[in-house]
Amino acid sequence: MQFIDLAAQQARIREKIDTRIAAVLDHGAYILGPEVDELEEKLAAFCGAKHAITCANGTDALQLALMALGVRTGDAVFVPSFTFAATAEVVPCMGATPVFVEVDPVSFNMDAGSLKRCITHAKEQGLTPKLVIPVDLFGLPADYDALTELAEAEGLKMIGDSAQGWGGTYRGRMTGTFGDLTTTSFFPAKPLGCYGDGGAMFTNDDDLAELLVSLRFHGKGDYKYNNVRIGMNSRLDTIQAAILLEKLAIYADELDARQRIADRYTDALQDVIDTPVVGNECRSIWAQYTLKTRDGQDREAIMERLKEAGIPSTVYYPMPLHMQKAYDRFPTDPEGLATSEAIAKQVFSLPMHPYLEPDAQEQVISALRDALG
Ligand SMILES: *Cc1c(COP(=O)(O)O)cnc(C)c1O
Repeated sequence: MQFIDLAAQQARIREKIDTRIAAVLDHGAYILGPEVDELEEKLAAFCGAKHAITCANGTDALQLALMALGVRTGDAVFVPSFTFAATAEVVPCMGATPVFVEVDPVSFNMDAGSLKRCITHAKEQGLTPKLVIPVDLFGLPADYDALTELAEAEGLKMIGDSAQGWGGTYRGRMTGTFGDLTTTSFFPAKPLGCYGDGGAMFTNDDDLAELLVSLRFHGKGDYKYNNVRIGMNSRLDTIQAAILLEKLAIYADELDARQRIADRYTDALQDVIDTPVVGNECRSIWAQYTLKTRDGQDREAIMERLKEAGIPSTVYYPMPLHMQKAYDRFPTDPEGLATSEAIAKQVFSLPMHPYLEPDAQEQVISALRDALG
């Protein structure tokens, strides 16, 4: 059994992808070809954002977003500690200071009360609170109402890191439309993945969109050999855009399939272990289906039993960022990050992809119930 079965999806759309790739080979516009424009229009339309700007990967998307918002030395950028490293990594790259915010023990997303404490703490440290980056972890949108209210009151900019959550909904709005900017990743294992690296940024702000188009292409002005600012070389390959066009065409259908699979897991498991809770009038895109052990349940033993039964499972993430060597010198919530530290020891994720057949899912469920019983 596969943790994520990319081959099943490929079998469904292989012919269409072949045709799309052949078209790129025929026209030969490998960089910023017509498929890139077509994809950007369709991405924006899908989530309801005014602009989508593609780039080379989800980490660059974050860094370009920080560049566009003018993040610099002396600025505090608030990020959750329980996330993939890229969310925080781009902050010191821009000379700014990441401040690690606690997450909620049920949603695993940024806790607004902790953000408030972190803002006060950053000011006490002589930093300028500049930006907050909520993450839509495992596919579930962050608590945007509470975070936006606080960000606005404190004059903070906001970037949604939706590498795992793009296409999810929060109170009727899709991720991609919150804050000043949203970023996502098309890494192959993400819910919308290409066959290599890729990423995108979303915004409703015309000026920011124009800036991002310049920044991803060496800070170009009117044309490519007119450089008006320091930028990066970060474009999505035309071939990857061509592939993504076919994947985006089935994305809504795949999100429905993920929802059905998540519902089956939850129905079958909620009496024996803590299953994901989707509150706040949200819809998750189920990038991961992540369980949390209860008191007395031994995660490592459970995962070992699953492995013996031929079921892959993975821990996202075994160590929160504020405890990692690269990040342990940066400020945190002054009350500590006990939840991030605890859940890093409790969580594990089950096989999840839109093509997980009911039979295979039954195997996962019965192996897990056995392991817990
Ligand atoms: C995958 C991921 C990224 C980085 O995306 P890449 O395309 O791998 O650079 C950033 N943030 C989160 C939360 C991610 O899961």
